[in-house]
Amino acid sequence: MTFKDLGVIEPILKSLEIAGYTHPTPIQQQSIPILLDRKDLLGCAQTGTGKTAAFTIPIIQHLYNSIQELKGKRKIKALIVTPTRELAIQINDNITAYGQFTNIKNTVIFGGVKQGGQTDSLRRGTDILVATPGRLLDLISQGFISLKDVKYFVLDEADQMLDMGFIHDIKKLIAMLPAKRQSLFFSATMPASIIDLSRNILGNYEKVTIKPKQATAEKVEQAVYFVSKSNKPNLLVHLIEENPDASVLVFSRTKHGADKVVRMLAKSHIKAAAIHGNKSQGARQRALNDFKDGNLHVLIATDIAARGIDIEELQLVINYDLPNIPETYVHRIGRTGRAKASGIALSFCNVEEKEYLRDIQKLINQQIPVIEEHPFLLDDNEEVPLVQKPTKNQRKKNNRKAEHKPKEGETAKKPKRKFYGKKPK
Ligand code: AMP
Repeated sequence: MTFKDLGVIEPILKSLEIAGYTHPTPIQQQSIPILLDRKDLLGCAQTGTGKTAAFTIPIIQHLYNSIQELKGKRKIKALIVTPTRELAIQINDNITAYGQFTNIKNTVIFGGVKQGGQTDSLRRGTDILVATPGRLLDLISQGFISLKDVKYFVLDEADQMLDMGFIHDIKKLIAMLPAKRQSLFFSATMPASIIDLSRNILGNYEKVTIKPKQATAEKVEQAVYFVSKSNKPNLLVHLIEENPDASVLVFSRTKHGADKVVRMLAKSHIKAAAIHGNKSQGARQRALNDFKDGNLHVLIATDIAARGIDIEELQLVINYDLPNIPETYVHRIGRTGRAKASGIALSFCNVEEKEYLRDIQKLINQQIPVIEEHPFLLDDNEEVPLVQKPTKNQRKKNNRKAEHKPKEGETAKKPKRKFYGKKPK
């Protein structure tokens, strides 16, 4: 199967050849014909599957065919809404690449920066607008953007959109869109709230599912290290030093944690930068560019900031903390082993995180191999019980409570069951 077989037109085929895409990925094979046929689409897929090309190629093709004779200022005919700035920039860059031999105009808007450059570009006119929800609504309310000519609407990473609290913005936006349009809805997970939202957006649609299992199991080599919380910094330094030339993306659950890791690595003379929501857009973009260009080998990211980051040569993902949402693990390790490459994802798991590991393994339907030999193995006595054993004094107090006879009118309290050691399954 080739892109030509899918009905992709010559000017786009030329750009795909330059990008080095020889064959369409499964999501592209399934989605491109549906979208070229002008049907709505519900796509259950995460980044790393080739999703961006799957939805941008048909849009570029439709527009290319319709704007041949257009003169004058371009009006927004396609709107792509995505949760993060990084993802928005990336989608826009992809459109520029895939549309380089067409006369399509595209632009991107996102919050956290001054609006001047973005409004200038909007004034000049654009066919495709890629946007994050907040800035989009803001510029609509200021009169810089009209949605009345939109014929193609894409809501990308819908689950992340809801997690980030964008639901009201999205509903407001949907109400502004022309009723006659082609709609595309992408989400990595499909809980009930997402299905509900998709009903507000899609008409008669076709569904395409690319299971994360496929993406993770086949491409990414995974392993887990059992290590105490206090030894995680040492293990991280050790792994980075063992792989001096690798680009390493380290995930931290919290912004504060990410900054702490950067400071800790600096003490070991390892240069790293963090990207998270408290950093300015400029700082995030600089760190990301340095990382992509190979000038910075270690990048520490929180989940939201890293969502959608696309780095071609990313060899190693390290989960410094295991995520409590198993789908997040799949997103994280999907940063490596992108469409063409294979990659390695290593996870640090301390005692408190074992339940997260269990949930992850259930989701991906795989046992992640455990690295049995490393310099910071857990001692047996580091197996901290999930519920701490009571001290002698606490035990005495508990016994006294248990002996307490209820007075008249007082109901007897059931003594609480105590667990020592591991929590029963
Ligand atoms: P995405 O899921 O859109 O974030 O894409 C993941 C990565 O796969 C990006 O680096 C794309 O450039 C790349 N990619 C997309 N489609 C193909 C393809 N058909 N062949 C090779 N690489 C691709």
